Amino acid sequence: MRKAVYPGSFDPLTNGHLDILQRGARLFDQLVIAILQNGGKQPLFSVAERREMIAEAVADIPNVAVEQFEGLLIGLEPNIVLRGIRTFADYEFEQQMAVLNRQMRPDLETVFLMASPAHAAISSRVVKEIAGLGGDVSAFVPPAIAQRLKGKFSAR
Ligand code: ADP
Repeated sequence: MRKAVYPGSFDPLTNGHLDILQRGARLFDQLVIAILQNGGKQPLFSVAERREMIAEAVADIPNVAVEQFEGLLIGLEPNIVLRGIRTFADYEFEQQMAVLNRQMRPDLETVFLMASPAHAAISSRVVKEIAGLGGDVSAFVPPAIAQRLKGKFSAR
């Protein structure tokens, strides 16, 4: 059975992430979304909130599961890592990570999917910026996540 892991901050999940994981779910028997807990910056959503939002968004994809992880990616069980690439900046960063991960764990392969043009400009960071300024992000994230963003910022 081919099992892959799709790691990231997902703070929050966007339509770009969703596109990668829908396509990934067709490539692998099982795809585990792994929410990174030890990101350097303070997240907007807690891991529990992110997990809940992702679980809701992927409920109709049977071979996708959600987990959280701390520490290094190479400590996870699957030996296939799925990542998305939007830009040259993504490429540079991802190339370095993939090479280093493989140096640390030679059986680990990273598989890259190019972002779909419709989603290539979407990032969690920009979505948070727009929502924080009162903008409409419903074109960039699933409806339930747009609602959560609204709630988060109106509560501040
Ligand atoms: P990280 O903090 O690890 O970069 P992200 O949640 O920002 O976590 O992204 C997780 C993965 O999803 C990365 O491989 C990233 O390049 C990819 N990704 C993020 N946004 C998009 C998008 N709009 N289209 C395709 N891939 C994306």
